[in-house]
Amino acid sequence: MRVGIPMTLSFFTFYPLWKPFFEGLGAEVVVSPISNKALLDEGVKETVNDACVPIKLLHGHVSALKDKVDILFLPRLVSLDGKNTLCPKFLGLPDMVRYSISELPEIIENRLDMKKSRFELYRFMFRVGQRFTDNKLQILRAIWQARYNFSRYRKLLLHGLTPAEAFPLLESGEEPDKAAETGDAIKLAVLGYPYALYDNYVSVGLLKKLKEHGVNVVTPEMVSEKDLKKMSKTLPKNLFWYYSNRVVWAAQHYLRDQTVDGMIHVTAFGCGPDAMTNRLIELEAKENSQIPLMSITIDEHTGEAGVATRVEAFVDLLKRKKGIL
Ligand code: SF4
Repeated sequence: MRVGIPMTLSFFTFYPLWKPFFEGLGAEVVVSPISNKALLDEGVKETVNDACVPIKLLHGHVSALKDKVDILFLPRLVSLDGKNTLCPKFLGLPDMVRYSISELPEIIENRLDMKKSRFELYRFMFRVGQRFTDNKLQILRAIWQARYNFSRYRKLLLHGLTPAEAFPLLESGEEPDKAAETGDAIKLAVLGYPYALYDNYVSVGLLKKLKEHGVNVVTPEMVSEKDLKKMSKTLPKNLFWYYSNRVVWAAQHYLRDQTVDGMIHVTAFGCGPDAMTNRLIELEAKENSQIPLMSITIDEHTGEAGVATRVEAFVDLLKRKKGIL
């Protein structure tokens, strides 16, 4: 059985959990191609106009997968931490895709809501596993293997690796090199949803560009759960949405930490939650620190050259401030 997983949205959070899980169930995992203009154009054609860019792109990824797989994995992600919910577009994802794209294969759209219990993730995986085999032992073994791989992945991200750097190490079993931070380089916190930051096409190569400029980059995925939780208590009120909260808490963490020279917030055009997320980060940066902040809004027309010029100017300004330039 070939299971299709779109390389967007929760992919950058969960792929190292899902891949060994499905393989342990005897399935072949097929991932959609790396995002590109053709995929986004196809997604724009299939989606309602007011959807955000990541949702449009998801439709492109699904279109690219639909004829290559027997079953599509598009779970209904409701809560991933037992407290916050995901944005409404995640909640309605399987329905939105089903009504927009024709001739889809079967969809695994089981609901994952960690508000139900601490063990809901394993119950969810067990339910999904039963669609592939009646052998309970095989499902449990696949869950155990997936958990192991996933906790290694989380450690690699906390070590400062991006998903693109962590995935090959998970496959090869190698350990990461010692952190290559250089003392006199500037350090930037780049904030945003994982599906915006780590998708090279959506972010118009932002992380790569910063590294080429010799910048040390840190992201929300490099902040521990313990530190994020600590930051969640510093605001009078948190937002409703899982990924937005993590971006705000990570911003709080880096603002208080005072080890970063600047922050870039990558926001997605058409994202309702981002209007608030961006405002909150702006207010916190203005009121509680001297750390410069730049926002970049990404949409389907964002040009690489425009972003590159702004990023270069921002990096030069920070280098000058630090006396490097
Ligand atoms: S949080 Fe924003 S960018 Fe992400 S899916 Fe929801 S509306 Fe789109």
